[in-house]
Amino acid sequence: LKQAKRGEGVAFYEPVALARLHKRFDREHALRQAIDHDDIGLAFQPLVDMKNRRVIGFEALARWTHEGEPISPGEFVPIAEDSGLILPLGRLVIDKAAATLARWDERLGKPMPVGISVNVSPIQLARDDIITVVQHALERHQIDGRRLIIEVTESSVVRNPDTADAILRALTDLDVRIAMDDFGTGYSNIASLQRLPIHTLKIDRSLVAGIDTSADSLAIVRTIQRLAEALGLRTTAEGIETETVAQQVAAIGCDVGQGFLFSRPLDPDAAFDAWQRSQGR
Ligand code: C2E
Ligand code: MG
Ligand code: MG
Ligand code: MG
Repeated sequence: LKQAKRGEGVAFYEPVALARLHKRFDREHALRQAIDHDDIGLAFQPLVDMKNRRVIGFEALARWTHEGEPISPGEFVPIAEDSGLILPLGRLVIDKAAATLARWDERLGKPMPVGISVNVSPIQLARDDIITVVQHALERHQIDGRRLIIEVTESSVVRNPDTADAILRALTDLDVRIAMDDFGTGYSNIASLQRLPIHTLKIDRSLVAGIDTSADSLAIVRTIQRLAEALGLRTTAEGIETETVAQQVAAIGCDVGQGFLFSRPLDPDAAFDAWQRSQGR
């Protein structure tokens, strides 16, 4: 059925395309149910201080297991974005992050000196109810705004600079900090970095992973570090997988590191243990 009959209210698709469409609808339906039933979990990947390798925080990463199979956020986040499910998904992630901090505090018997970074999609950021969502989560779980970091992408702020600016400012009024995720891969609107209330640049994994083999990557990471220092921003290097890269990243002066060398994303209990173990370092 290769011929699509336009204008007759009937379209024929190739069987492969149809199967793909089917799978997509199935996934969207299943994702909606997973969100409704609170079946989306969070994994916490340690963020380490590059000076002493102590855990200073975690990035919360959404996890979904469907019919026994883990589906990566690279697959389900775009489905959530296209279907509007990103809004309830995003609320769930922010609330769970705050709830996890509260549980860790309870386990420790006092506020645990770590923050959690949460990814926020451009669609979520464009809606000003993100402020209410964050405020409610902090209040409900009695968490200081300083312990929440919102990770935004360059495309979020490039697409709608004035709205983004207003929303980011309202978030920083709650003491929440803002990190620019995947920095160095997108438009890199350097002028907006100076204008927006950004605290941290997260240097993308694709650049960091190459610094020991690519002179270009090394030069770019060094330049980003200098730019951050000039603008008074902190840096986090993503995707550190080897000791060689870790040492180069530290020598360049990046403040924080993240990557499989230090730890994979962990469940909440294992994440707490990883923090505790790192305190003796
Ligand atoms: P991201 O925000 O840049 O998150 C880092 C991703 O890199 C995570 O993948 C993490 O597991 C992976 N990673 C960390 N260290 C290493 C390393 O050393 N080597 C390699 N190869 N990978 C490493 P993950 O969990 O699959 O998430 C992928 C992307 O999905 C995230 O990229 C983020 O853009 C998005 N995402 C995840 N959770 C959420 C969420 O709750 N909301 C939204 N809007 N997006 C999310
Ligand atoms: Mg991120
Ligand atoms: Mg990232
Ligand atoms: Mg990335």
